[in-house]
Amino acid sequence: MHKLILWDVDGTLIHTGGIAGETMRKAMAQVFGPLSRRERAFYSGKTDRQIIQETFPDLTPTAVFEQLQTFITVYVEAFAQRQFDVIAAGGALPGTTTLLAHLQAHAIQAPLTGNVAPIARLKLDWLGLLPFMHFEVGAYGNDHHERALLVPIAAERAAEHYGRPFTGQDIIVVGDTPHDIRCGKLNGTRTVAVATGPYTCDELAAHQPDATLPDLNDLDAALAAILT
Ligand SMILES: [Mg+2]
Repeated sequence: MHKLILWDVDGTLIHTGGIAGETMRKAMAQVFGPLSRRERAFYSGKTDRQIIQETFPDLTPTAVFEQLQTFITVYVEAFAQRQFDVIAAGGALPGTTTLLAHLQAHAIQAPLTGNVAPIARLKLDWLGLLPFMHFEVGAYGNDHHERALLVPIAAERAAEHYGRPFTGQDIIVVGDTPHDIRCGKLNGTRTVAVATGPYTCDELAAHQPDATLPDLNDLDAALAAILT
């Protein structure tokens, strides 16, 4: 097991039918104040802390950080009530369950997501993908506001747990936005883009990932793109 696959969650492995975003906006309004017209700021590929900062530009990063734990508590409590709605309106994206099951024999898999950790855990658990993940090795939106800095955090956690370093091309970052590609490339990892989020294959390919897939439904194509 010398490869570490770091999976983006929303738009790459699962979708929540918009319920997570809706719950997050309500929690932000409750903790940080009324949402401005920036309420509809584009969330994809951004960390939750980054989304809060962009939604409330008048708050200092320190002010956001100080309220972060309260926000996480409010958000997680509200989202935990929505399990059946998420299962009904959302789902694991096509091919993901089979692919993750196959990859278990070849690699360590963990989330790398802008979601705060407890939200990522609930989503993956409810939609059946948590068993394939070494969740503690992953890196999350509460670990840092800058996505690119989540890769070294996950690599360090994996190194600590598995007793060997993971660097460069040992690591594969898979995601559905240019933010995911950039985050992998800045860290010298292999990057695989999947067009199951808001971006098309062409839009993703313009950012020069190592491979671009329309979705994860073609098992052989996905294995080749990820493990090459
Ligand atoms: Mg995503």
